[in-house]
Amino acid sequence: MSNVPPVPTLTIGRIREGLRRKEFSAVDVATATLEFAERENPKTNAYLTFSSERALEAANRVDDQIANGEHLGELAGVPLGVKDVIVTKGLRTTCGSHILEHYIPPYDATAVIRLEEEGAIVIGKLNCDEFAMGSSNENSAFGPVRNPAALDRVPGGSSGGSAAAVAQGTCVVSLGSDTGGSIRQPASFCGVVGVTPTYGRVSRYGLAAFASSLDHIGPFGRNVEDAATVLKVMAGRDELDSTSAFATVDDYGPLMKQDIKGLKVGLPKEYFAGLSADTDAIIRAATKKLEDLGCQVNEISLPHTKYAVACYYIICTAEASSNLARYDGVRYTLRSDSDTLSEMYRNTRGAGFGAEVKRRIMLGTYVLSAGYYDAYYLKAQKVRSLIAQDFANAFERVDAIVAPVSPFPAFKIGEKIEDPMSMYLSDIYTITGDLSGVPCMSVPCGQSPDGLPVGLQVFARHFDESTMFRLAWNFEQAMKS
Ligand code: GLN
Repeated sequence: MSNVPPVPTLTIGRIREGLRRKEFSAVDVATATLEFAERENPKTNAYLTFSSERALEAANRVDDQIANGEHLGELAGVPLGVKDVIVTKGLRTTCGSHILEHYIPPYDATAVIRLEEEGAIVIGKLNCDEFAMGSSNENSAFGPVRNPAALDRVPGGSSGGSAAAVAQGTCVVSLGSDTGGSIRQPASFCGVVGVTPTYGRVSRYGLAAFASSLDHIGPFGRNVEDAATVLKVMAGRDELDSTSAFATVDDYGPLMKQDIKGLKVGLPKEYFAGLSADTDAIIRAATKKLEDLGCQVNEISLPHTKYAVACYYIICTAEASSNLARYDGVRYTLRSDSDTLSEMYRNTRGAGFGAEVKRRIMLGTYVLSAGYYDAYYLKAQKVRSLIAQDFANAFERVDAIVAPVSPFPAFKIGEKIEDPMSMYLSDIYTITGDLSGVPCMSVPCGQSPDGLPVGLQVFARHFDESTMFRLAWNFEQAMKS
């Protein structure tokens, strides 16, 4: 019998302590997590693939290090789930799509390499919307993910599996990707912490490109500290991604534990229009808590917010139409046999892509086409600068911004899938973070009257994740008392 505590209660700190005291081994943790995850997964459909062999090999390496008295990595023995848009060598990576259903990548993403080097144990690959396009995980070719907090509800998207797995306890931390809110919105819906770092903070090498100028890899955890630890380990310049930043990575752990007395916090008035009454009350209570902790909370304005959804859907579809051109039936896996080359392209893409992906490719091709480029794409790029400028102006006066993550808590499976516009509006408060490239996160801040989790969104200046974590960590501690 192993002495591993119930898997859903594990944290990075608890695993470190247990390994140090020889209460359990890394193999014990990996085995217990795999058993629990394989048993519980049918409830949520969060995992698409388990990687038992890779997990046990990695856990054995950690146990050998312990036996030899060697230095242990920061994530030694920590079960990690990886969104299935992030490539893993020799381990199927589907991007939630039929076209890559059998794709086995020949290399690992930089983020995964860095986490494994520090001892993380990859348990498996997590379900998501096809090519990360969606807000509910209903666009996966492998069926929707169910929200562990209410199984008839969506977990949010597109990193629905990554949020659900951490909430369900089938891994301790996970990786997601965020292009327009896909980490923060599912974190909010599932009641876990989700972090979208500054654009360029984490290498995108090995992340299947959706909209390259907006794509981020970021962590999920059951608490702020775990998510921050994962970010710290994978952040930093990578020669393999020219957009990855040289900025130094802080040691978030000690910095986040300083108090937040006197911190200037902005509350953007535009983020409170169209908010459900329940969510509004929960966010107001959270800001009151921040005041009690000594923050100076003041209303601010981010005046171009109203253009964000339109701007985002022009830029992301344009970039997606170009990025997804590579899935042509020649490279990768699926190929539909046809008489001519162009028919082969058409048939492969027709059979391989789902409806939402096709919709985005068509929209993106349209906004980039001659004659429309200036009217749509170029205009959207200008609006994007204005949105970024809103944040720059605000951060001259405040150190952090707090807001809701989503106008409403998790909705029912099937409720919005027939209505793309209403689905697109779920991202109204999150896409500004991606468009401007500032770091942002969701930290649990309460529950709706029917028990659905609600997250508080925190934004900070470019590369100032430390302040963001400090605010979130202090808030999290205050929520416990
Ligand atoms: N829901 C948004 C979309 O469908 C965001 C997706 C994302 O962040 N990957 O594009």
